[in-house]
Amino acid sequence: MPGALTAGLFGLVIMLAFYTCVGGLALGLSVGAVAAASALVANALAPTEDQVHAFALGLFVFLVVALAFMIDALTSERRRTASSLARLHEALRALPSTPDLSATLDALAASVTETVDARLAGILLRSAGRLVLASPGAVTGMWTPEEVAAYTTEELDLGEGSPLALALATGRTVVVPDTGGDARFPAWSEHWGTAMVRLGYRSMALVPLRADGQVTGLLGACFARRDGVSRDDVALLEAHAEQASLAIARAQAYEQERAAAEQLAEADRLKSEFLALVSHELRTPLTAAKGFVDTVLLHWDRLDEDRRRGLLERASGNADELARLIGQLLDFARIEANRVEMNPQRLRLRELAEGVVEDLAPVLEHHEVLVEVDRALVVVVDPEAFGHVLVNLLTNAVKYSPPGSCVRLAARVVDAEVVVSVRDEGCGIPPEEQERIFERFYRAPEGDRSRRGTGIGLAIVRRFVDLHGGRVWVESSPGHGSTFSFTLPAVGPEPARIETDRLASEPPPRAVAS
Ligand code: ADP
Repeated sequence: MPGALTAGLFGLVIMLAFYTCVGGLALGLSVGAVAAASALVANALAPTEDQVHAFALGLFVFLVVALAFMIDALTSERRRTASSLARLHEALRALPSTPDLSATLDALAASVTETVDARLAGILLRSAGRLVLASPGAVTGMWTPEEVAAYTTEELDLGEGSPLALALATGRTVVVPDTGGDARFPAWSEHWGTAMVRLGYRSMALVPLRADGQVTGLLGACFARRDGVSRDDVALLEAHAEQASLAIARAQAYEQERAAAEQLAEADRLKSEFLALVSHELRTPLTAAKGFVDTVLLHWDRLDEDRRRGLLERASGNADELARLIGQLLDFARIEANRVEMNPQRLRLRELAEGVVEDLAPVLEHHEVLVEVDRALVVVVDPEAFGHVLVNLLTNAVKYSPPGSCVRLAARVVDAEVVVSVRDEGCGIPPEEQERIFERFYRAPEGDRSRRGTGIGLAIVRRFVDLHGGRVWVESSPGHGSTFSFTLPAVGPEPARIETDRLASEPPPRAVAS
């Protein structure tokens, strides 16, 4: 072969490779065609002994065209990967500015769809044994998140016979090349796979999301083609999954901070409301007491002795209420400052209870109060703190129940614990409020606030019961009254019943105040 033709053919290869890379297949082939035509002409014009055989020349041109196609395929793949990476980078760069988890995951799902040319992509998070769609934007107009949760729950019921469950259980990416039939998941393919094929999802990849070494969810992508998930796609999906995991961790941290800030703001609001309430609560009995005393002083001569006594008794009742309120505030302040000192003593529960009921007689006078406590029952308590627990529960019982109704203070031994309870026949407490009422400053919602109060009584009760090592709870049904109960732990082998022989000879418990 003459040197000129060899050089020409070599030049043809170089040009074709160059133009295919730079301008695509069409340009490469056009340039190649021109060069090949020139080579053919040059070959035809060359002396016969220097001519290359037409078959060899044709084969060469064929190989060169095949090379052009190969170079084009490689270049397109490279371009696609580069543009995927650029899009991934763009999508990831946009993420930190959006603390809203669902918006972030929606953006990630959209980026997945575009980057790997998926038909559908979504992020599912584990929640209470189910999978919840955390990127609802992906299926807007197609399914509701509830429908997705219902479907995925059914799929998970198949156990490792479902690709979802397998990816969750193994923590590894699962690729289903043909949703219409995958030998690993026969039951799933028959039902869910067929449904997916009908919707146009012919292949699928599921990539686990992780936080602290745990699988917290899945990134799923469905493709229109069978065998539509390439290795590059898996790598890109895994990069997105990593970002989704980070975004979830960040959003959770943000959510925790936001909740803490909200709690602080709420605590602040409750505290201000509490201060306003306390001033009002202190002023009301004070004003009333002063009013009664002033009336007596002003009209001393015109009032007979009974009227004077009545007015002074009411002044005294209000002074008692003021003292109780101040006592409650002092208790609360000591609790808040962690300055409560307990001085537990062995005491007869019945005597303690009767003492409290007696002290509270003016408050309880419009109710029938029954003390049903075994005389033999002995407990180890701090008498002051225990007294305050009973005062708070009894004053609430009469405050939240109609005059004339019955309030029962009872105690029984259950599994070596003493359970003390105060039952009323009052308005009761709705179930959704039963936990909250023990929080400090919590009061019934605005509409039900027909009674005065500060919202610290039950918080004090809970703290004092805690300090005795017990627990407190309420059982109540609105309109049918409430029973507040608390436990006192057992002390010693038979703590609550040290006088068991006397017990048998005692008369049954009786009412002490009514
Ligand atoms: P308050 O000063 O408002 O009575 P508490 O802490 O003692 O504050 O009680 C908190 C809330 O629990 C009350 O506002 C009331 O809604 C509810 N509550 C407490 N005891 C009773 C009861 N015996 N019956 C009905 N509701 C009650």
